[in-house]
Amino acid sequence: MAKPSFKEWLYDHQAFIRRPEFIEAKMALPDLNELSLEMGPNCNLHCPHCNVECGPDRIGLPDLGTTVKLLDEACRLRMKSVTLTCGEPLRDENKAVVGAVSAFSKFLVTEVITNGVFAHSFDNAVKWFEFMKERGLDFSKRGRLSVSVGSTYFVPLRNYANLNRALMAVYPRADWGQFLIYRHLNVLDNEANKRLIYQMGDVFEETFGSKKESDLGWGPRREPLINIYPRKGGRSIRFVSYQCVSRGRAKNFDWSTRESEKLREIKPQDITSVDCQEGQGVEAGFDGNITFTDCREMYRDRRYGNVVSDPLSVILDRIRADSFFQGFKLGGVSLLYYAARQVRPGLTIVGRRGSDVLRVIRGDTEIAEEVRQYLEKKGVVNTYNQLMATIDFRRKQRVGL
Ligand code: SF4
Repeated sequence: MAKPSFKEWLYDHQAFIRRPEFIEAKMALPDLNELSLEMGPNCNLHCPHCNVECGPDRIGLPDLGTTVKLLDEACRLRMKSVTLTCGEPLRDENKAVVGAVSAFSKFLVTEVITNGVFAHSFDNAVKWFEFMKERGLDFSKRGRLSVSVGSTYFVPLRNYANLNRALMAVYPRADWGQFLIYRHLNVLDNEANKRLIYQMGDVFEETFGSKKESDLGWGPRREPLINIYPRKGGRSIRFVSYQCVSRGRAKNFDWSTRESEKLREIKPQDITSVDCQEGQGVEAGFDGNITFTDCREMYRDRRYGNVVSDPLSVILDRIRADSFFQGFKLGGVSLLYYAARQVRPGLTIVGRRGSDVLRVIRGDTEIAEEVRQYLEKKGVVNTYNQLMATIDFRRKQRVGL
């Protein structure tokens, strides 16, 4: 018998995800240990690509007492990390909350996602970095600073120069590439994008050091990636440019979609990988409502409880007991889609990636509820086994679900 090729061997071995031991291990994996804190929906910008529909016209900011209670419980439950997102943390309105989060950063790895408006002046940027540092969030030791570059129409380039210089002033000896990342979300046409990327390159060169042209490469989703090498040495600072096509805000937003990716019917069998990440995230709304998130999209079916009235541990157990969540944890988007097609036989989802499927299933409360009931009745593991029976691991055509 001919020896199987490496690819065939790999496909054969992928079949282990059908084994009961794998299913048990996956269900027993730690979950819900990454916390996201909503910093809006009131925000100092109104970006055309905002996938959570924040803006100056929206009402709602996180409350200090609720945040402290939540973080305290998160620490007791040994959650791993907290991310400040969905709104702008570094503004006066959220200062007390950011101070509290900084104080907990010894226990929870803290990521601050900012749009950079706070760096309208060098002094203000320094003030913010010193404030977080004094309160306990020392980026040179732990944590991450993600700067979202939406569009030059909203945040002037000099803000990023101020931000970089302020970081260098507050953390002169740090390895900046260890904690700083810039993410650029394309919402303009290609020419304007290219211009912005080059202009940002100049900002980096002027502040940190050199931009190596040879390192203008591709990120994990084939997005342009520039590595900036600080003059004084250390790790490179990454500037990732996500090639999105803007189709609007919130539910209409198409995350990380490239024009070149063709629209097509996505099938539940289009499983690509053994992804063990599902079910890691919990999102806390500004009002204390808790739901689970996933790594691709955030939705707000806040049916699990509010941290003001319930202990976080009770809410997390409610999520874990929900068959919709269990299905997601075990079989990801594919399993939810498979269940959705059982309850809605004609359901066809046309899109480019798994997030398009989630958008339909989680975005429509009726479908989500039917899926939940189906999984409850049929059993999550049974449904998973049914889906697995339909998958031919040797198939070549697959999409990233
Ligand atoms: S994308 Fe970020 S900065 Fe822009 S409106 Fe939404 S939350 Fe605010």
